[in-house]
Amino acid sequence: REQRNKMPTYPGLDRYQILEKMGDGAFSNVYKAIDKMTQQKVAIKVVRKRELNHSQKFSTALARTLNVIKEKHLHRDMKKKPRAIERSNILKEVQIMRQLKHPSIVSLLSFLESQDYYYLILELMEGGELFHQIVKLTYFSEDLARHVIVQVAEGIRYLHEEKGVVHRDIKPENLLFEPIAFVPSKNPSPPPGPNEEPKEDEGEFILGVGGGGIGKVKIADFGLSKIVWDEQTMTPCGTVGYTAPEIVKDERYSKSVDMWALGCVLYTMLCGFPPFYDESIPELTEKVAKGQYTFLSPWWDPISTSSKDLISNLLTVNPEKRFTINQFFEHPWIKNEHKQPIPNA
Ligand code: ADP
Ligand code: MG
Repeated sequence: REQRNKMPTYPGLDRYQILEKMGDGAFSNVYKAIDKMTQQKVAIKVVRKRELNHSQKFSTALARTLNVIKEKHLHRDMKKKPRAIERSNILKEVQIMRQLKHPSIVSLLSFLESQDYYYLILELMEGGELFHQIVKLTYFSEDLARHVIVQVAEGIRYLHEEKGVVHRDIKPENLLFEPIAFVPSKNPSPPPGPNEEPKEDEGEFILGVGGGGIGKVKIADFGLSKIVWDEQTMTPCGTVGYTAPEIVKDERYSKSVDMWALGCVLYTMLCGFPPFYDESIPELTEKVAKGQYTFLSPWWDPISTSSKDLISNLLTVNPEKRFTINQFFEHPWIKNEHKQPIPNA
């Protein structure tokens, strides 16, 4: 919290007052801020342009398609800087996010840039990362895990079925939530002195069903996402393209990567540790490639066989046999006919 008094200022962000740092991504700094004109709280993802230079290269066909999209949809100001467009990945993230509007997807409110930075003005998710919530609670009850995974899956269904977008980076760090209850800390900090900012209460947010509603969960970080190809028409979903068959073939099963990730997230929420883990990266890679995971005793003993069945169908190595998003929603554990109220975790 000591950083509160030395928040950075960025050119071109005069409309916003930066309040505190919320997250450090691999390529970005994310701040909580307030829109001075509307008093709306937002999140601002700041990305330095210079570090984008070595970002992933697109395949030629895909790059061409994306250029068509850029020409059509991107902000007028950005067209003046064609070289910056070619080099950056953040613009793809922005271009995809602009097309998305769903309760389970963090929305992009505005996009700004200065000479050195891009700024994504995002819907603020006060609770932060689901990752931290798993760490805090150790593991979730089955009802709480269902409550979370269903919301994530609704976001994925929207991306896959309506927008032809694969996220490709579903993980607890990129799943954000809105709290429904705030439990104040037991030792509140003393009142602020005359020249001090008030300290934030160190209490915690609780996710689950509380006083008036259910905490919302949303998918963030479209930095690795991309548009995929429709299997029947062999055209990119949601856009027009001139793509070679080998690219279409490669992308055929790309939606299934999100389903695998969904299985990993569900597994992790239920027991508190990930399905695949090894200190050594080559060993870990090997385990993932073979789909080597177990429902480790004693942690998994009290957890329902139905949830294990669902996880097994998501953590299936063969992408053709892996559950699709529609099969996911048909599974008995998800349908959970007799809906029970979700206890606070
Ligand atoms: P990166 O591509 O660098 O991983 P992310 O978009 O994932 O960037 O943002 C990094 C982190 O910032 C997230 O993991 C999260 O902790 C925080 N964050 C991002 N967007 C928001 C938001 N809309 N509300 C609250 N926190 C956010
Ligand atoms: Mg991220």
